[in-house]
Amino acid sequence: MTVTAIVGATWGDEGKGKMTDALAAQSRYVVRFQGGSNAGHTIINEYGKFALSMLPSGVFYPEVTNVIGPGAALDIESLLREKEALAAGGVPAFALRISQRAQIVLPVHRLFDELEERRLGDSRFGSTKRGIAPFYADKYAKLGIQAADLEDGQRLLLKLEQSLAAKNVLLQHLYGCEPLDAKALLPELLKLGQRIKPYVCDTTRLLQDACRSGEPILLEGQLGALRDPDHGIYPYSTSSSTLAGFAPVGAGVPPYAITRIIAVVKAYSTCVGAGPFPAELAGAEADELRRRGGDAGEFGVVTGRPRRVGWFDAAAVRYGCRLQGATEIALTNLDVLGYLDEIPVCTGYELDGTITGDFPVTARLAEAKPVLRRLPGWRCDLSGIREFGELPHAAKEYVRFVEAETGVKVSSVSVGPRREQLIRL
Ligand code: GDP
Repeated sequence: MTVTAIVGATWGDEGKGKMTDALAAQSRYVVRFQGGSNAGHTIINEYGKFALSMLPSGVFYPEVTNVIGPGAALDIESLLREKEALAAGGVPAFALRISQRAQIVLPVHRLFDELEERRLGDSRFGSTKRGIAPFYADKYAKLGIQAADLEDGQRLLLKLEQSLAAKNVLLQHLYGCEPLDAKALLPELLKLGQRIKPYVCDTTRLLQDACRSGEPILLEGQLGALRDPDHGIYPYSTSSSTLAGFAPVGAGVPPYAITRIIAVVKAYSTCVGAGPFPAELAGAEADELRRRGGDAGEFGVVTGRPRRVGWFDAAAVRYGCRLQGATEIALTNLDVLGYLDEIPVCTGYELDGTITGDFPVTARLAEAKPVLRRLPGWRCDLSGIREFGELPHAAKEYVRFVEAETGVKVSSVSVGPRREQLIRL
C-alpha cells in the first residue's frame, strides 16, 4: 500500500499546496480529509497561479482523482467558484469525487462565525469567517447535513428546521438579528445539491478499493499540527484535527495503510490570526521577512491579511513533527532567507528561568521567551538550484540543522513557489 499523508508541521501556510501539487504527479488520488475553505493553498505551475481552498491540490493532473472525504467541511459555493476559476485559467477538466457523507457548510454557519467574532470583540480568535467552527459544532451536536441529504427535499427541510430551532433563539436574543426560515433556504440548497450530484459517491469504498490494489493515494492536510484542537494552541486552533493520525479517519482508509508522513516545514515561521507566537518578529525586521516571503510576500490566501512572521522555531517544529509522526520533512521557502548575512533561529524557550526545548501549553506560551542562535547565511539566490550538492555550504548546513533539531530526515527542499523549484534529496 502506498498511502502518503502530507501535512503541516506548525501554524499552516508552510507550502503544502506547492508540495502536494509537485507530489500529485505520482498519485492516483489526492484527498482532502479535514477542514473547509478556511485556509488557502497557493499553487504556481504551467497554467498560472491559483489559490485553492476547497479543492484538493491534485486538480492540475487529469489522471488524478480528487476526493473530498467525509471528514472535510464542504463549502459548495467555494468549490464551484474554484472549479470555474480553474476552467477559466485553461486547466483541463479533472476528476472529482465527493463523499456522500461529507457535511455541508451552510450560509448560517458563515453568519454565526461572523456574528460570534463580532460579539467576542478584542477576545476574538481571528477566524477566517468561513463558518468552520459553527459547522463542526453542528456536526458533533448531530445537527449537520450530509451531501446525500441534499437529494431529498423533505428530509432536508426537516434537518434544516431542527438545526435552526436553537440558532434562531440565539440570532434573536444574543445577536439581535432576524430569525431564519428553513423553507426560504431550501431552494438554494437543493440547487447546490443538484450541481454537485454528479460527483457525490461512496468515496470510502473507492479509496478502500484503491488501497487494496496498491494505487498511490495522497492525503492532503490543511493548516498545521499547532492548529490541532487536541494538541495545538487551543483555543487558537482550528475545529478539526490537522494531524496525519486523523487522515485515515477523515479520508476513509485503514490507519495502517499510511506508509509515509511528510511534514511540510517552512524555513522560517508564519502565523495567521490571534494567539501566542513566541518567535514573532516586529518592526523593520518583520516587514522585510514578510515582504520577501512566499511567492509575493506573506499575506493570507483567503483573507489577504499580513501574516505574522518569525525566525525558524525549532521547539515548535520539533513538537509539530512529533505530533504528525513525520517520517520525512519537506523544507520550503529556503530561498527566502538568501538576503541575510546571518540567520537567527530559535532553538528553544526560556521559561521559569530555565531553558526548554519543549513546546509549552497555551497557558504558558505567552511567557516563553525565544532562545536565539545565529547560523551563517549564504547570501545568494537559490531559486535556480535543483541538486542538493549545488547548494552553498551554509544552505546545506541549514538543512542539516533542521534535521538535527527534529530528528527527521529532510527529503526535499523547495527553493521557490513554482512546481519545478524543488530539490529532492
Ligand atoms: P499552504 O497552505 O501550506 O499550501 O501554504 P500557502 O500557499 O498558504 O503559503 C505558502 C506560500 O509560500 C505561498 O505564497 C507559496 O506560493 C509560497 N511558496 C511555497 N514554497 C515556496 C518556496 O520554496 N519558496 C518561496 N519563495 N515561496 C514558496
